[in-house]
Amino acid sequence: MATLLDLANLIFPDINLTIADLEKKYPNRNLANKAMVTRFAPSPTGFLHTGSLFTSLISYRLAKQSGGIFYIRLEDTDTKREIEGSGADLVKQLNYFGIIPDEGYINDELEKGEYGPYKQSNRAFIYKVVIKHLIEIGRAYPCFCTAAELDELRTKQIQNKITPGYYGIYAKYRNLSPDEAISLIKEGKPYIIRFKSMGDEANKVKVHDEIRGDLELQENYQDIVILKGDGLPTYHFAHLVDDHFMHTTHVTRGEEWLASLPIHIELFNTLGFALPKYAHLPVIMKEENGNRRKLSKRKDNEAAVSYFISEGYPKYALIEYLLTLANSNYEAWREQNLDKSYNDFILAFNKMSLDGALFDIEKIANIAKERLAYKKANEVEMELKEWAKTYDNNFYQKIISDEEFITNILNIDREKAKPRKDYAKYSDIYPLIKFFYNDEYENLSKIGFEWNPEKPKNEIKKILTYYKDNYNLANDESLWFNDLKEICPKFNYAENTKDYKKNKELYKGHVGDIAEYLRVAMTTKKNSPNLYSILNILGKEEVLNRLEKAINSLN
Ligand code: GLU
Repeated sequence: MATLLDLANLIFPDINLTIADLEKKYPNRNLANKAMVTRFAPSPTGFLHTGSLFTSLISYRLAKQSGGIFYIRLEDTDTKREIEGSGADLVKQLNYFGIIPDEGYINDELEKGEYGPYKQSNRAFIYKVVIKHLIEIGRAYPCFCTAAELDELRTKQIQNKITPGYYGIYAKYRNLSPDEAISLIKEGKPYIIRFKSMGDEANKVKVHDEIRGDLELQENYQDIVILKGDGLPTYHFAHLVDDHFMHTTHVTRGEEWLASLPIHIELFNTLGFALPKYAHLPVIMKEENGNRRKLSKRKDNEAAVSYFISEGYPKYALIEYLLTLANSNYEAWREQNLDKSYNDFILAFNKMSLDGALFDIEKIANIAKERLAYKKANEVEMELKEWAKTYDNNFYQKIISDEEFITNILNIDREKAKPRKDYAKYSDIYPLIKFFYNDEYENLSKIGFEWNPEKPKNEIKKILTYYKDNYNLANDESLWFNDLKEICPKFNYAENTKDYKKNKELYKGHVGDIAEYLRVAMTTKKNSPNLYSILNILGKEEVLNRLEKAINSLN
C-alpha cells in the first residue's frame, strides 16, 4: 500500500529540501524589537495604480520610521494577466516618488537582498518544498476535476441553495487514498494541488487587524487551490510562504484581502508558521453622482500614477496628499512643521480611516499650489525643467536656452509675505508666462490685444506713445508707479482711483487704466503677473519693441 510520502515523491521527484532547510537558508533578520519588515507586492499587470502608491507609501514609511526593512516582491504567478516589463516600471515609478526599497525585485535581471528570489515565478522550488510537506502530512492533495466538472458542481450547488465551492462532501478528490491518486497520476490525468481545510462553514474565527482591531470572520472551510496546473502557486499560498521566509512582520495590503484572511490564518497554523501582523488599508474611493465607488483603472485618469506625473503635479504634492488620506492628523502636523520633510511624520495605525478614503484631486492641487508658492524660484525651475524635458519639449528648449530668464520669471512675487498661488502643476506654468517669449508674444499679438473696449483706441495710443518716448524704468516699484502717476494729468487721468471714483465726470480714466494699457501692451492680456517685474525682466529694448507693436496695432 502506497503512503502519502510515496504520493509526495511522485508529484515532486526533484524536491529534496525540507522546510527546515529553508528556515536555515532564510534565517531571522537581526533587527531591533520594534523594527517592522514590510513589503509591497505588486502583480505586473500594468501601470502603477494610485491605490498601490498609497499602500506602498504606507508600507515604506512604516518600515523606515521603525528602523526596519521595506522590500519589493513581484507577484507574477498569474501569467495570463502579466504585462511584460511592467514589474520594472513599477519599481522605477516608486523610486521616482522617493520610495526606495532596501531589498527586492528591481527588474528581471536584477534584485538585491538575501531573502530572494524576490520574483515569485523564480521561487517555484520553495513553494514545492512546502507543498510536498503538506501532502506528506495529509493536508494537501491532487485534485483531478476538470473545469467542466467544477462548473457543473457550482451550478448544482447554486440550484440547491448550497454555498458554492470545493469543500467537504463536494470535494470529490479530497479523500482519495495515495494508491488511487498515484494511479490517476500515472494514467496521465491532469491535476492541480488543493489545500485540505479542517474548517467548518458553521464556525467563526477571531482575527486581529492592526487598523480594525479584533474581528470575527467566517472560518475557512474551502479546499482552495494552492498549486495551479502551470506549476505556479496561487496568491493565497504564495504570499504566505514568502512572507514567512522573508520575515515580514506586518502585511500591509488593500482591504479587499480582508475576507480571505481566514484562509491565510488556517494555512499559517497548519504549517506552524508564526502569523505576521496584518493591516488592511482603506481602498481609495471616488464620489460620482452622490455614490462612492473604487477608483477605477478603466474610468478614472487619476487611477494611474502616471497621470499625475505627465500632468506635472509635483511628486511631493501627491505623496503629501496620500499621507493626509493615510492619517487624519497629517494636515495639522504639516501646519506645525512646515520646514520638515514629510518623511518626519510618524504614521500610526490607529489614525487610519476604516471606511475607504475619498479621493479629491482639488486637494492635491491645493497642496501643490501651497508648496510651489513657498519654494525658491531656482528649485521650481529645476523641477519644471525635469518635467518639461519629457512632457513639453517646446517649453524645455526655451528653459534651457536661458535658465536665468525663466528663473527670474518664476521669481515674480515670490519673495512676498503672501506669494501668489497660481500653479498647481508644472503644466499650468507655460500658458501663464509664455508671453515673455518673443515668438509667443508675436503669436498672441496676432490673436489680439485685450484692450479695454470702453476706452478710445487713439487715447490708448497717445498714452503709450508718450510712455514709449519717455521710457526710463525707475529702479524701485513705488518710484516707477509714481512716474506713472505723473503722466496722468497730461491726459486728464486721475492719479488715484479714489479721486476718480468721486468725480468720474472730471476724468477720462485713472492711473490703473494706464497700468492696464501697459500690461496689455507687454503681455496682450488684461491679467498677468506683477507688471513692474515684467518690465524689468523684458528689459528696455524689448519693452520698447513691444510698445511699438502694440501702438501699431491700435489703428
Ligand atoms: N499581489 C497582490 C496584489 O497585487 C498583493 C497583495 C498583498 O500585498 O499581499 O493585490
